Amino acid sequence: MDCIFCKKIEEKKECLFENELAFAFFDGFPVNKGHTLIIPKRHVKTFFDLTKEEVAAMKELADKVKEYLDKEYHPDGYNVGLNCGEAAGQTVMHCHMHIIPRYVGDIENPRGGVRNIIKGISLY
Ligand code: AMP
Ligand code: ZN
Repeated sequence: MDCIFCKKIEEKKECLFENELAFAFFDGFPVNKGHTLIIPKRHVKTFFDLTKEEVAAMKELADKVKEYLDKEYHPDGYNVGLNCGEAAGQTVMHCHMHIIPRYVGDIENPRGGVRNIIKGISLY
């Protein structure tokens, strides 16, 4: 199968942390300093395809990634997100969790965080 994320796992390329079921690496096109992705080792499309064990493995890596990023970059907060399906903006069809460090002043008004995604289609 031609999947860029499966290839990273196979080649153990750019691995930041891994455990039996999950793998973490820096995003190749970071939206902020330290932007990291956590993926299941099994090729599934979205969060909703994960087993409980894979979710737990990804959470374990999320905690390690946070500890690492806190030490290296001292962010002031985080956005954690999963795009599930093309309509939601997913471009790589191997499930991945975005861990995006946030810094005071990185945008003028951060209020709303991930909720800002749907501002353009807000019904209210
Ligand atoms: P999404 O739009 O949620 O599917 O996110 C895909 C993410 O994968 C984006 O943040 C991209 O910057 C990132 N990405 C795409 N190709 C690569 C790559 N070869 N290595 C690392 N990250 C990548
Ligand atoms: Zn894959």
